[in-house]
Order: sequence, then structure tokens, then C-alpha cells
Amino acid sequence: MEDGFGRKIDYLRISITDRCNLRCAYCMPADGVPLRPHAEILRYEELERLAGLAAGLGFRHFRITGGEPLARRGSAEFVARLGDRLRRAGPGSDLSLTTNGTLFGPVASGLRRAGLRRVNISLDTLDRAKFHHLTRRDLWPAAWEGVEAALREGYDPVKLNFVLMRGVNDDEIAAFGRLTQDLPLHVRFIELMPLGEGCAMGGEFMSADEAAALLSAVGPLEPLEEAGDVALAPSISGHAPRGAGPADCYRLPGARGTVGFIAALSHAFCGGCNRLRLTADGKLHPCLASDLEFDLRGPLRAGAGDEELAAVFRAAVAAKPAQHGMGREAAAAGLTAKRRMSRIGG
Ligand code: SAM
Ligand code: SF4
Repeated sequence: MEDGFGRKIDYLRISITDRCNLRCAYCMPADGVPLRPHAEILRYEELERLAGLAAGLGFRHFRITGGEPLARRGSAEFVARLGDRLRRAGPGSDLSLTTNGTLFGPVASGLRRAGLRRVNISLDTLDRAKFHHLTRRDLWPAAWEGVEAALREGYDPVKLNFVLMRGVNDDEIAAFGRLTQDLPLHVRFIELMPLGEGCAMGGEFMSADEAAALLSAVGPLEPLEEAGDVALAPSISGHAPRGAGPADCYRLPGARGTVGFIAALSHAFCGGCNRLRLTADGKLHPCLASDLEFDLRGPLRAGAGDEELAAVFRAAVAAKPAQHGMGREAAAAGLTAKRRMSRIGG
């Protein structure tokens, strides 16, 4: 599918829950957020039908996210079933998972056997006390076990999402860079976005450029080509380390993994946007930074046929804006999305 600006839209991020076992400071308030009643959350069969339909419309990249996807009962079985369905729908489609890692260790092996290859684990610190403070849960060992399990089970690539926060974890940027030299990990440094609790954290904002400057203390950053430059990234069997996302990717000297920067704010990356987001309550979001949404759950539960549902996908693609309005000024004026990442599916 192509949107009104000539962008190819072939990536669907599917949030399967708005619940989470952590309370990251930039995402959720300490006492959580009002949760949707279970009846409003799409059932697994409904999610499978919509993903199958999207595959038929040309979507090739699928990511399961949340909230914390693994906090939903039956999620591991669902991921395995969906992977199987997408494989049968045709060659070339890939499924990945974004998780905070704390519940991943015990299911890593089963999911790998079921065919899941790619995983993104969000980890903003290597320090247990800092993790406890940032996420309001003392679960760093479980999160790290998730990372180790992903490596042990041969997931490829294993990406680490690191949200840049000045005065919080900027002192660990170099350490995460060195991690890519020691282990086949692909660290993505992400600019803090004015979404959810992130709206109140302007002072902690740090640009990707500043992070890159700090990282170059570890060594020169060798740029990687987007088109799967396997020669530059020998650990990545046939995959572009960049994947389907908006990161600028580099390799540090002798590194087994890569580093990448997602400059959501300082360099608008919208020109390459290729995605729609499906929320757990069945709304399609054309843009992460906008509250505009298209309802799929209503028609789905009213017995709509595939063509009627496909029309909702087409309308959402057609409504993609050229660019987000997520600048700090827009956030201050209350113009950005009211939904938080845990809702929309980051
Ligand atoms: N719970 C899972 C996790 O943390 O990986 C999946 C959902 S989480 C919303 C997806 C990603 O969004 C995480 O990497 C998280 O760090 C990121 N995120 C959440 N709020 C953010 C914000 N305000 N700015 C930047 N990234 C944010
Ligand atoms: Fe949960 Fe992920 Fe949000 Fe952290 S970023 S509170 S792990 S949904």
C-alpha cells in the first residue's frame, strides 16, 4: 500500500495489551493508567484475522508490542501461532517482538523454536538500582536474563532500545556502545518523545547527535549501509541491522553488533515512515504522534467482511500525515497525542 506522499506502507505494529508490569518514568505514572476493560481488547483470533488481512494487503513487517506484550496471558502461544500464519500467508514477511525483557527468559526458547527470530528488548540502564528507580520495579536481573536468553537462543538481531535521558542514563551511553563490541547486540539510542509521561520530561531530553558525540569516545563510528550490508555486519545473517525502522546505524571498531540512533525529534524521520499501528482495543493509528484513529473493532464485531475491513486499512494509510508535529513547542501547547506509548504500541 502507498500513502498520499508516495511512502510504501508495509509495517504493522500490533499492540496486544495496554497493561505492563513496569512503570517506566517516561511512559506510565507510578500508579498505572486506567486500563481498558477486557471486553474492549481484541481477542487473539481477532488479532490473527486482522494481521492475516494486512498480509493480504501487502504488509510484510509485523511487530508485537504493548504495554508489555508478554504480560498478557497466552501471548507466547499467540506469537507462535501468528508467526506460523504469516509464514503460510506468503514468503518475505517477518515477525518481531518488542518487550521489556523481564518475562522473556522463560519463553525465549519456545518462541525461537516456534520460528520467532527477531526481538527488541528495552533496557535503559545496566545498573540495578537505577533500573528500579526508573521503572519503579526491582526487575533488572529478570530483564538482563531476557537479554542473555535472546543471545543464547540465537535470536538475530537482538536489539536493545535505550531511551536517552540527560542526567539519568547519559553516563551509560559509552558502556552500551562497548556492549556491542563484546556481544552481538544492536543498541538503538532513542530520543525521548513528548508522549505519555515523557511530556513532563523536557529537561531530560538529549539529542541523538549528542549521544553520537559521547559514543565516539569509544571509537570512530563506521556508517552502515541500509541495504543489508552483511560484509560490515557479519553477525547479522542476511538481515540489515537497520531492519524496517528509522534508525541510522553504525559500527564501533571490532564490534559484533551495531549502534543506531532514532532521532524522532531532532531530525524528523517521517519521510521514511512505513507503518501503521493497531492498538489493543482495535484502532488503527496512522501516526504515533496523532490521536487520529480508525476503528476496526466495531466493524469486526459487527460481522464485517474482509473488503469492509480492508477499506479501514486503506483509509488509515490515506490519512497518514506528511510529518508529525511532535516538537517540544507542540507538546507544550498540548498538541501531541493524548494516548501514551503503552496504549498505541511503541
Ligand atoms: N513494554 C515493551 C517495552 O518496553 O519494550 C513494549 C512497549 S514500549 C511502549 C515500546 C518502546 O517505547 C520502549 O522501547 C520504550 O522505551 C519506548 N517509549 C515509551 N515511552 C517513550 C517516550 N516517551 N519516548 C521515547 N520512547 C518511549
Ligand atoms: Fe511498560 Fe514498556 Fe511503558 Fe516501560 S516502556 S512502562 S515496559 S510499556
